[in-house]
Amino acid sequence: MTKIKAAVCHEFGAPLSIEEVELRAPQAGEVEVELEACAICFSDISFLDGGWGGDLPAVYGHEAAGRVSALGDGVSGLKIGDAVLVTLIRSCATCTPCASGVPTQCATPYDRMSGPLSMPDGSLLEHGLACGAFAERAVVDQSQIARIPDTIPMDAASLLSCGVVTGVGAVVNTAKVRPGQTVVVIGAGGVGLNAIQGAAISGAARIIAIDMVPEKLEAAKEFGATDGVLATDPKPWKKVAEITGGRMADAVMVTVGAIPAFESAPRFLGSGGNMYLVGMPHSGDKATYEPVIFGAMAQGMKGTKMGDVVLKRDIPWLVDLYGQGRLKLDELVSGRWRLDQINEAIADTRSGAARRNVILFK
Ligand SMILES: [Zn+2]
Ligand SMILES: [Zn+2]
Repeated sequence: MTKIKAAVCHEFGAPLSIEEVELRAPQAGEVEVELEACAICFSDISFLDGGWGGDLPAVYGHEAAGRVSALGDGVSGLKIGDAVLVTLIRSCATCTPCASGVPTQCATPYDRMSGPLSMPDGSLLEHGLACGAFAERAVVDQSQIARIPDTIPMDAASLLSCGVVTGVGAVVNTAKVRPGQTVVVIGAGGVGLNAIQGAAISGAARIIAIDMVPEKLEAAKEFGATDGVLATDPKPWKKVAEITGGRMADAVMVTVGAIPAFESAPRFLGSGGNMYLVGMPHSGDKATYEPVIFGAMAQGMKGTKMGDVVLKRDIPWLVDLYGQGRLKLDELVSGRWRLDQINEAIADTRSGAARRNVILFK
């Protein structure tokens, strides 16, 4: 057992409490990572608000990077000191989705209450998102780890663990956008800017960002958007019609969790276009559609989790693009905070002004 400092959620919706908890040593197939950076994702906020259930107390945090500090038996390809990402993509490698190359849909359940974390009195502490990375160290399954070069700054690297792969992957892996297509991205925040980068990497002819905030539309252009439309416009789809000469979008990426964004998304679709559900509303939230339009216009709707990423395939090329200056990471970091400032950092993320706030442990 190692004593580590962690941000613990004792009550949904209440501030996190910084306290010492116990982390057991890595068991067979597990890796301990001394964390250097962990970004705050809206999924952490949904969990700490109780939007998706789960047990308490819990330690969340899942967009992290650090260095390997201990190895369980049977772990290969890693050594102490290696720079790595810590992700929530825990895959068993043997279930049907894993064996079919879709580890983000791994069907083997994981009991987060019997993970490596416990309270100092030995009572249960949930291993939130199978990571528990709002803490100085994390123990995770080796499938959740991706090696990164020593040269990449840890704050920028941490974003690769969730926000970047979710946004870029949704466009490249799920939507499979082709050169010349038109992509509408609803929301120009931490995930939306990455969907925009993904569309640029894919060779989209038009990349139209939609957001409530004019400054965020300007930022979207720095990440590759060709056009920006204010969501506050009474009929933003008319602007998209003007931009596209009436053809509308081949792919609409909904990168926020707000229901009105999901309900307006079909308005931007052209004939044969598809909308992709990237942002994740709380459980129980409902959206309504006119099925006749989807049918008549041969349109589709598809979910995408963690950008359908395969870590060993996708992290190396994303790191390479970053090294070449073709993928922005440093520009996504809008705030750096200490662990004891995590509640302020979360409040800043909630305000919608941040791209990504990152907790630094060193
Ligand atoms: Zn996330
Ligand atoms: Zn599996």
